[in-house]
Amino acid sequence: APNPLLERQAARESNARSYPRRIPLALKRAHGIYVEDVEGRIFIDCLAGAGTLALGHNHPVVIEAIQQVMKDGLPLHTLDLTTPIKDRFIQDLFDILPVDFARDAKVQFCGPTGSDAVEAALKLVKTATGSGTILAFHGAYHGMTQGALQLMGSLGPKKPLNSIQHGVQFLPYPYDYRCPFGLGGEAGVRAGLHYIDTVLNDPECGVPRAAGMIFEAIQGEGGVIPAPDAWIRGIRELTAKADVPLIVDEVQSGFCRTGKMFAFEHAGVTPDVVTLSKAIGGSLPLSVVVYRGELDQWAPGAHAGTFRGNQMAMAAGSATIRFLRAERLHEHARQVGERLASGLRQLQSYFPQIGDVRGRGLMIGVEIVDPEGGRRDNASRPPPTTPALARAIQNECLRRGLIIELGGRHGSVIRFLPPLVITERQIDHVLEIFTISLQTATK
Ligand code: PMP
Repeated sequence: APNPLLERQAARESNARSYPRRIPLALKRAHGIYVEDVEGRIFIDCLAGAGTLALGHNHPVVIEAIQQVMKDGLPLHTLDLTTPIKDRFIQDLFDILPVDFARDAKVQFCGPTGSDAVEAALKLVKTATGSGTILAFHGAYHGMTQGALQLMGSLGPKKPLNSIQHGVQFLPYPYDYRCPFGLGGEAGVRAGLHYIDTVLNDPECGVPRAAGMIFEAIQGEGGVIPAPDAWIRGIRELTAKADVPLIVDEVQSGFCRTGKMFAFEHAGVTPDVVTLSKAIGGSLPLSVVVYRGELDQWAPGAHAGTFRGNQMAMAAGSATIRFLRAERLHEHARQVGERLASGLRQLQSYFPQIGDVRGRGLMIGVEIVDPEGGRRDNASRPPPTTPALARAIQNECLRRGLIIELGGRHGSVIRFLPPLVITERQIDHVLEIFTISLQTATK
C-alpha cells in the first residue's frame, strides 16, 4: 500500500524534486551504511547522499563533534567571522592538500552546496583572467544553479533556460567505452588531447582565450567515467602552456572516495583551483574552493554570502578529515572497491546486459546495454544503452533492500557510492542482492 507520508510530501513538494521519484522511501533512522524507513525496513545505502557520507550515517566521531559545539555553547552562526573551529578546519583542510599546492593556496568559503563552490570558482577565474569563456566537457555535471548548469555537458536539464548557453565551449571527455573519436585506449586519449590543443591554440577555432577549464577527474553523475591519467596529465600540460587556469571539481570524487584523497592525485598533477563539498562537511552542508594564491585577485568582499560559517559543519568536517587520515580510508576504499568491481566484472561474463564496469575506489559504475539492440553491421561499436532495464534493476535492488542510483547521459549507468567504511562482508551482501536483482530484471 502507498505510504501516506510519501503521498503527502509529494503533493506539496515542487515538481522539480528528484530522488523521491526513484527512491520512494520515507526514512526514519540511519546508522553506518544502513537506513531504516518508517515501516521498519532496513536498506543498504549505496547512494549515501550522492557520495557525501564518507563515514556513513551518523558516525560517532561526527555526532561527537556536533554535540561538542552545542555543549560548549559555541556560536552556531558567525557569517564568515574568525573562530577557533574555522581555524582548525582550515588547518585540517590544508593538511590534506598536496604539499606543493597547499604552500600558497587560498580558501574561499562558499556556502552550503557544491554548486556554490563551482559558482565561486567561475567568478574567481573570470576575475583573474578578464575572460568570459569557460571550457567544460561533454557529460559534465557541476551543479544546478545557473552558472554551474551552464557547464553541464548534456542538453536536457538546460533546455528550459536557453539564455544560459553562452560562454561555454564543450570539449570531448575521454569516455573510453564510447569514445567520441571511435578510438579506444591510448589512441582515443591522443585524439582528444590533440583536439583540445587545437581549441586552445588555433584562433581559427573561434574560441576566445578561456578564463578556465573545468573537469571531473572521474565523472560522477555523467556515468562514473574515470579520465585516464595520461589524459589528465595532457590537459594539465596544455592548460599550463596556454596559461588557462585548470579547475578540478572534486565535489563528488574527493575525500578518499576513489582511493586517493583527491581523484586528480592518481595522475600526479597539481590543479590551479579545486572545488569541494559533499563529504567535506561530514554530512552537514559546507563547500569551499581552494586555489593557487596567484589567482586571488578579486576585491575584498567580492564573494559574500550569509551562510559561509556553518560551525557544526566545520566541526563535523574536521572530525571526518581526521578520521579519514587516521584510518587510512583511501586504502580501504581501494581494497573494498576492487572487491566490488571484480565481483561486478564476474557478473559481466554471465550478463551481456552489463556493457561496462568502471570506476575507481568506491565510485563504481555499471553501464547497462541492450545486447540485441542497435546496428549489427558495426560490431566495433558498443551496444546501445537501455535506461528502462537500468531502472528495472534499480527497482529490484530497492525491493531487496539495496539503494543504488542511476546516472549517465541516458540514465543507464548504475552507480555504487557506498560509505567508505563499508566492510568486505557488506560488499559481498551488496553483490548478492545485485546479482539476484539483475537475474530477475533480465529474465
Ligand atoms: N560537482 C559535482 C562533480 C557533483 O557531483 C555535484 C553534485 N552531484 C555538484 C558539483 C553539485 O553539488 P550540489 O548538488 O551540492 O550543488
